Amino acid sequence: MDFTPTERAAEVSSAAETFVKERVIPAEAVYRRQMEESGDPDHHPEIVEDLKTEARAQGLWNLFLPDPEDGGGLSVLEYAPVAEWTGWSPEIAPETMNCNAPDTGNMEILHMFGTGEQKERWLAPLLDGAIRSSFSMTEPAVASSDATNISTRIETDGDDYVITGRKWFISGAGSPRCKVTIVMGVTDPDAHGHRQQSMVLVPMDTPGLTVERSPSVFGYHDRGGHVQIHFDGVQVPRSNLLGEEGGGFAIAQARLGPGRIHHCMRAIGMAERSLELMCQRAQNRKPFGKALSDQGVIGEWIAESRIRIEQARLLILKTAWMIDEVGAKAARTEISAIKVAAPAVLEFVTRRGMQLFGAAGFTEDFPLANFHAISHWLQIADGPDEVHKRSVARMELAKHEPGAEFVWPRE
Ligand SMILES: Cc1cc2nc3c(=O)[nH]c(=O)nc-3n(C[C@H](O)[C@H](O)[C@H](O)COP(=O)(O)OP(=O)(O)OC[C@H]3O[C@@H](n4cnc5c(N)ncnc54)[C@H](O)[C@@H]3O)c2cc1C
Repeated sequence: MDFTPTERAAEVSSAAETFVKERVIPAEAVYRRQMEESGDPDHHPEIVEDLKTEARAQGLWNLFLPDPEDGGGLSVLEYAPVAEWTGWSPEIAPETMNCNAPDTGNMEILHMFGTGEQKERWLAPLLDGAIRSSFSMTEPAVASSDATNISTRIETDGDDYVITGRKWFISGAGSPRCKVTIVMGVTDPDAHGHRQQSMVLVPMDTPGLTVERSPSVFGYHDRGGHVQIHFDGVQVPRSNLLGEEGGGFAIAQARLGPGRIHHCMRAIGMAERSLELMCQRAQNRKPFGKALSDQGVIGEWIAESRIRIEQARLLILKTAWMIDEVGAKAARTEISAIKVAAPAVLEFVTRRGMQLFGAAGFTEDFPLANFHAISHWLQIADGPDEVHKRSVARMELAKHEPGAEFVWPRE
């Protein structure tokens, strides 16, 4: 296992670092001002378009896609540090480089499973950053951490599909720039559990599709929201099917491997920025006559944060390396492990960061409180921790024969 970056990976990662630190982070105040002035929480501020133009001119565009024609030609391991840099400013940086969820996962599956017509209509404008997309799987009425529970119906009607059901927590679908959603629903309720579902591309302006509400998450409203959508007899041509009928579950699995590396590396990026802020603040803030950094307890928080970040990053890089070498299926235990480890590190670091900052830590003046909120929802989105731990435990237990004689070591 060798994590030494190739020349191209080092070059791209360094360019991403410079772009995020010198262009994106200084633009955060402009972003906030433009959002406030618009009075619309789903507004698309001009600063994002300006930064997109700059990033694209520097070749920092679609780097998540391994295909050299449409993307950066980087392996999952090579892209991982770029994702980490975008995590330093998660609300702005990923979008400026056209590497933002859920578009990345959607572009990946359109690239892998889309027909020529689907690619032309949806993948091309997504790769161009001209539109956005969303992914509709979770439903309010069923325990959606088990995707076989999905109940939205996709029924055949001549040359069309008719979609009926309700989805929620559909990230980004509240943005006027979101033009298409990929809906996972049941096409054959009598098939085997993992063959019942299919995925269909649904333009957001299709009659019968209504965005019902946009609940806040931990009190935050992320641009584009995490909305609830009602599909009330929504009719689309059967040519909008992605992949094959009954293949929805397999496509969902294919979507999740590299995507989890991106999420986890962004979490590491947020943790790194939080730790940097902690160190700066600790050396400058002086209660009771000495800098906070001179207090043993603060040193422990900083040391523990560094140790945990390094541990998690190494596990993520190992997982990225495995995806490249043996594929996402063979790396599924590691993928589950990092999905638990990375948000936990972010939670640990930001919790201490907020405490170290005193009252300021809980405000929007610093990103710590927002990153802390993200650390919590990352423990649910893309599968709750408990489900991932269950997978890791199963793989671990499978290494041991059930009922085998337990030998007491001292006899
Ligand atoms: C901010 C945010 C953004 C999201 N974006 C999207 C999106 O764009 N598209 C989309 O389709 N979905 C999205 N989701 C939804 C997310 O993927 C689901 O919430 C998640 O899969 C869990 O499903 P559920 O909410 O129905 O929880 P449930 O399935 O009802 O589970 C509830 C809880 O039960 C526990 N649990 C479940 N299974 C087990 C088990 N086997 N053992 C022990 N405990 C268990 C866990 O603690 C879990 O949190 C998003 C969620 C959030 C918070």
